[in-house]
Amino acid sequence: MAEILRVENLKKHFNTRKGVLHAVDGVTFGVQEGQTLGIVGESGCGKSTLGRVILHLHEKTAGKIIFNGEDISDVSQAKLKKLREDMQIIFQDPYASLNPRMTVGDIIGEPLKIYKKCDSKEALQKKVRETMDVVGLAERTFHLYPHELDGGRRQRMGTARALILDPKLIVCDEPVSALDVSIQAQILNLMMDLQKERNLTYLFITHNLSVVKHISDDITVMYLGQMVEKAKSSEIFAHQYHPYTKALISAIPLPKFNAPDNQIILKGEITSPINVTKSCRFAPRCNYAKPECFHSEPALEEISKDHFVKCHFVREINGL
Ligand code: SF4
Repeated sequence: MAEILRVENLKKHFNTRKGVLHAVDGVTFGVQEGQTLGIVGESGCGKSTLGRVILHLHEKTAGKIIFNGEDISDVSQAKLKKLREDMQIIFQDPYASLNPRMTVGDIIGEPLKIYKKCDSKEALQKKVRETMDVVGLAERTFHLYPHELDGGRRQRMGTARALILDPKLIVCDEPVSALDVSIQAQILNLMMDLQKERNLTYLFITHNLSVVKHISDDITVMYLGQMVEKAKSSEIFAHQYHPYTKALISAIPLPKFNAPDNQIILKGEITSPINVTKSCRFAPRCNYAKPECFHSEPALEEISKDHFVKCHFVREINGL
């Protein structure tokens, strides 16, 4: 299996009136073709910005993006247009991201028009109908408008639009967060089936660790623009070492009546990523913080094979 995507020390900073906002701050990872990397963290941790920087929807501040063996960190508009065929995005709610005055068929078929993929209207409509069938969207919805669909069908529409150019990589930005739990399962199953059939690679961005448990091969946990833990999905659910990951996993509800409540309650809110200092960014909320954590930034260290943690006291906290 080849590595299809690698980002190295990727940064995205925004200048604001209050100072420099470090939305993404030195993120490094690789994803193998046909696999899923789950990117997890609270709102404001930079995970969506990271996905958008990889797709060049935001310009990076620094770092490298390598796709399919090619450095695409800085590309021309023409090259970018070509790349967008291979790299697509599924948003949380396609209704909010697409033109509500277009019909479902037009929305799904629009990329084919932009990329001049079909030489007749009939060929375009045939391809749209085939793709609707692939994602389980009934043909009768072809002439409906997005507001006439429920959340699950709208997400199938967004998935069809992302798939229609046969991409290699899809950034899935909270694709099931706005859906009921039963519909979430349907969409996740659909995404996993499509991945198998088409050897798709996903970057699956979510605030909910339980959602990525089954779909992800690897999981990266982000906090204030940085990766704080990364490992195989099975490994991270069996052994989580960073205090923030422990809190996230403890917050997953257990499907059991009278299950013990072991939830770790974090102090305060996520702090501001503006004008950050050399420190552990989690320190103001960490139950294990020591003075050193407030003036020295920990490194991302390999604790066991392919399991990385960013914490000065990871061994002491976990008895390693
Ligand atoms: Fe907590 Fe310190 Fe580790 Fe940060 S470095 S997670 S503050 S113990």
